[in-house]
Amino acid sequence: MQFIDLKAQYEFAKQRIDQRISTVLDHGQYIMGPEVGELEVQLAHYVGVKHAITCANGTDALQLALMAMGIGPGDAVIVPTFTFFASAEAVAFVGATPVFADVDPRTFNLNCEKLATTIRHVQANSALKIKAIMAVDLFGQPAAYENIQSIASTHNLLVIEDAAQGFGGERNGKRSGSFGDIATTSFFPAKPLGCYGDGGAVFTNNDDYAALIKSLRVHGKGSDKYDNVRIGMNSRLDTLQAAVLLEKLAMFPAELSRRQHLAALYSAGLENSSIVITPECEDGVTSSWAQYTLQAQSISRSTLQQRLQSQNIPTAIYYATCMHQQLAFTSASPAFTDLSIAESLASCSFSIPMHPYLADEEVERVISVLLNMSL
Ligand SMILES: *Cc1c(COP(=O)(O)O)cnc(C)c1O
Repeated sequence: MQFIDLKAQYEFAKQRIDQRISTVLDHGQYIMGPEVGELEVQLAHYVGVKHAITCANGTDALQLALMAMGIGPGDAVIVPTFTFFASAEAVAFVGATPVFADVDPRTFNLNCEKLATTIRHVQANSALKIKAIMAVDLFGQPAAYENIQSIASTHNLLVIEDAAQGFGGERNGKRSGSFGDIATTSFFPAKPLGCYGDGGAVFTNNDDYAALIKSLRVHGKGSDKYDNVRIGMNSRLDTLQAAVLLEKLAMFPAELSRRQHLAALYSAGLENSSIVITPECEDGVTSSWAQYTLQAQSISRSTLQQRLQSQNIPTAIYYATCMHQQLAFTSASPAFTDLSIAESLASCSFSIPMHPYLADEEVERVISVLLNMSL
């Protein structure tokens, strides 16, 4: 059993993907070829935003968003402490300070009650100027944007949605990538919509941000790339990756419903077990199920993982270390509130196989191995 099966996906779509790739090799426009623009139109349409701007990876997408917002030294950005390193890294990379906030034990996403407290503590106890809240759609579930947006409005803060894992998720009829002032995603191969290398995108409805980001991704270009009006980056999506993504985006709705079916099977089989806590979606919210993440309850995580491994069922831990515990951040980013929920999730969470090419029988086998552990 594969944790994520990119090979099965390729075999399923081989002819169409190969055809797309060979079209690019034939026309030879490897940088910003026609597939890039075609993909951007389709991505914007799928997500439901005015602008989709592709770039080299999801980390650069966050950096482009922060740069477009003018966030830098002296500024702070609130980031959940339970996330992939890149969310906080991008903030530090532009010279700002990531301020870590705790998460919700049910959704793994920003905890809105604690968020308001964190903001007050930073304002009362530091000289940092908070500019934005970066919410992360962890494991595929869009964060609580109604509450996040209202807290942001109260304090006059911008909102960034890190939808690297969320692409395909929905919240009250709006898709991931359409929340906040600027949203970002990643096309890293293992993400819900992945390419065959690195890739990313930035989404916004704001024309000024969109124009800035298009300039920033090509060395701060003005009217052309040899007219440089600001310091930017070299962060474009390769045409070959755009070609792969065009085929994968066409397959994506069917893959997404398959993920949702498998997640429902897992949940039905495991939700009443005393061994693990199953992931929950809020009302009106659907996850893209980038990961199906359990919390070990009556039996330790390592014992559960070993037993699954002995039956050739792979697992992975996302994430064993919170951001505030990472060596890179221990001195740079003071903790302003207690982060105990994230710390506890880091000690008991583990993810089980989840991808659209998993058979129902494989999911049933994972469930039965877990349920039999209590016997
Ligand atoms: C993967 C990921 C990123 C970074 O994406 P890359 O394309 O690998 O740079 C950022 N944030 C989160 C939450 C991620 O999971």
